[in-house]
Amino acid sequence: MIVSPAFAGKRFAVLGLARSGLASVESLMASGADVTVWDSREEPRAAFEGRCTVADPLTIDLTGFAGVVVSPGVPLNRHPIAAHAASFGVPVIGDIELFAQARADLPPHKVVGITGTNGKSTTTTLVHHICKAAGLPTTMGGNIGLPILGQEPLASGGVYVLELSSYQIDLTQGLACDVAALINLSPDHLDRYDGFAGYAASKARLFQMQRADQQAVFGCGDDDTLAIAADASASHLQGFVHVIQPDALDGQSAWPSLQGPHNLQNAAIAVEIARQLGIAEDVWRPALASFVGLPHRMERVAQAHGVLFVNDSKATNPASTAPALGAYPRIHWILGGLPKSDDLDECAPYFSHVVAAYTIGEAGPRFAEILDPVMPVTRSEMLCDAVRQAMEAAQPGDVVMLSPACASFDQFRDFEARGDSFRQIVEALIEDRAAPCPPGSGAPEAGTA
Ligand code: ADP
Repeated sequence: MIVSPAFAGKRFAVLGLARSGLASVESLMASGADVTVWDSREEPRAAFEGRCTVADPLTIDLTGFAGVVVSPGVPLNRHPIAAHAASFGVPVIGDIELFAQARADLPPHKVVGITGTNGKSTTTTLVHHICKAAGLPTTMGGNIGLPILGQEPLASGGVYVLELSSYQIDLTQGLACDVAALINLSPDHLDRYDGFAGYAASKARLFQMQRADQQAVFGCGDDDTLAIAADASASHLQGFVHVIQPDALDGQSAWPSLQGPHNLQNAAIAVEIARQLGIAEDVWRPALASFVGLPHRMERVAQAHGVLFVNDSKATNPASTAPALGAYPRIHWILGGLPKSDDLDECAPYFSHVVAAYTIGEAGPRFAEILDPVMPVTRSEMLCDAVRQAMEAAQPGDVVMLSPACASFDQFRDFEARGDSFRQIVEALIEDRAAPCPPGSGAPEAGTA
């Protein structure tokens, strides 16, 4: 656990006792802070009875508090805690800000902060993998699901690799990343912001917090990212901004877990970060080849009868589904769920790669209406029917892919449960149809067609 003398004797309230909140409480208490905790659920609150004060920060006098630590899941634009804390002049912060405040007492280290609408987790794990290959002490934290304060402090020369959502950036005031990266920007989470401009401004703050002598890396795939790069360039020293050139990075065919045009961008971002950390090509290049991708991101779950089954359940918006469609030439596309947008415009450039679509969930009827004029569509409604229908229709050489372009919450607990369910259905149906594979029906390889 990361602790800090900076917290000793100070008063903090922690609102939201999920993963990052729990790690914040433990770190603050171990550091000698006076902590008040709260969660709307009874169970996590009860666990702290007798260990610290349990009270709703909304209802207490916050005079003298050093901060209210809120979970990134709390919608700051609507939740009354922001105004309540402000009325006492108390900052509303997150666990990443606590980490930023703890940095001064950690052994000399570097922090890499990675944000973007899509590709954050892949790029974060890839940078971590490259740092490990370079023999550096390293750990991951943040939005990747590992609270950074719960990690062990690194030895001198270590690299903390943080995946940062815009919500986490909103709750951070003093994190000067040695290398910060913005992969891309497309409309997402707009319920939490004042339109797209507000969302983009949230991402831009990551660079405003940096010192002029630090480094910033940007993707090149959209104008909004390039606009933030231009602003960062204007407000920092020459050489601060590095815009990647994915086409200049050769050898992608040797990186099995980094297929598709989107993963070439992710790899190019990771390589630029590695360069800024002083890691040489003879270290990062083999690391790209040995990288094993994350589950639910274009994950190959099975091959049967010459058909490849790909789980891309993490693709929760059209922008993240588009490159997955770009990665294979003949796809049976399972899509739908809880919609985040009313159109599939970002996927349209790859419609020619789709042999047939199978719609599920709440977005199903609307997506079927959009796709009907351009491809055969089956209104499957349920994931199990979609997989069965796609499996029946697929020819050797085809890919059956779940890449929903939607959130999962209409039919599943989360995107992991949806992806696990896809895998189980595929495995069960393959077993049912167990028969020898036709000779010469090798499953297709991913390409960037
Ligand atoms: P995040 O952590 O930002 O949600 P992930 O690395 O988990 O991103 O990838 C989520 C999904 O987004 C993947 O399934 C993939 O389809 C898509 N994706 C990954 N990288 C990119 C990228 N650079 N551009 C667009 N889409 C991407």
